[in-house]
Amino acid sequence: MLHIVRLIMKTVLVTGGAGFLGSHLCKKLIDCNYKVLCVDNNYTGSLKNLESVINHHNFNFIEHDIINPLTVNEKIDEIYNLATPASPVHYQGKAALFTIKTCVHGSINMLELAKKHRAKILQTSTSEIYGEPLEQPQKENYRGNVNPIGIRACYDEGKRLAETLFFEYHRQESIKIKVVRIFNTYGPYMNPEDGRVVSNFICQALRGDAITIYGDGSQTRSFCYADDMIEAVFRMMNSPDNFTGPVNIGNPHEFTVKELAEKVLKLTGGKSAVIYMPLPLDDPSRRRPDITLAKNVLGWEPSVQLEEGLMRTVEYFKRVLKA
Ligand code: UDP
Repeated sequence: MLHIVRLIMKTVLVTGGAGFLGSHLCKKLIDCNYKVLCVDNNYTGSLKNLESVINHHNFNFIEHDIINPLTVNEKIDEIYNLATPASPVHYQGKAALFTIKTCVHGSINMLELAKKHRAKILQTSTSEIYGEPLEQPQKENYRGNVNPIGIRACYDEGKRLAETLFFEYHRQESIKIKVVRIFNTYGPYMNPEDGRVVSNFICQALRGDAITIYGDGSQTRSFCYADDMIEAVFRMMNSPDNFTGPVNIGNPHEFTVKELAEKVLKLTGGKSAVIYMPLPLDDPSRRRPDITLAKNVLGWEPSVQLEEGLMRTVEYFKRVLKA
């Protein structure tokens, strides 16, 4: 009984809560009886992702851009910092400076908020901090190979500096921090216009449009289903205080982009043509997490494998495209 009372009273702030992963996390927290303060500027997020919780008495939406400081009157216990455009098409080009500011000013603002509330704060970092990795698979102690002046740098270096900020606030201000490095994740509530490989391929196959493979399709990614990812992030927040991470979270099964295209075509029964387009600059050629640390400390490993997760995602996109 005491346990339940404590959970009901915990107030958790989620930045980027209207985004793809943020909305999954908000739903999980509501299911666990937390009070959720969801912060989003709706740049890539959408209230549509929150339809199932928006009217819940424990859920509050705050429209705010974390580039600016945020004042919250009620006591916050935990902060999950997810806010940043995460897809190359949304973080590059005209959005590049905004992306850097979100990573850097946004992190400082959320760390200051954590300091004021003596709240625990979790940063969603990224496999992008490894850049074009020269070690396979990537372990947390690999320091990466990022082009600091390339078109992906706004995100990669922004997220690297965010990790630095988290660890300095931990060292200098004794803030309780948690850092997870998220590898490619997919699932329902991805934005069909996000330009990600999974959402693009599924939507193209369902619409009968050509599947667009960038480069020769031999580059690899390791795809984690959203529910698995959220479970790991939640476990990380609830892990012992002395475990700061960083910890890799992802599915260690590696696929080429071409293999992904074949799987999507098979699952959808689509008859789309496949066309090859230029590989974007600095697009990493291989990526696969070593998740030994997550297994050992969080007792976590992914349970949904690619075909199963793709089937669920295809069902979601069928509904979205019909609507
Ligand atoms: N990609 C592709 N076709 C698409 C979208 C992406 O071949 O329509 C490739 C992209 O070049 C990259 C991989 O798929 O090699 C994953 O891209 P995504 O943007 O999903 O994730 P990230 O590059 O951030 O890992």
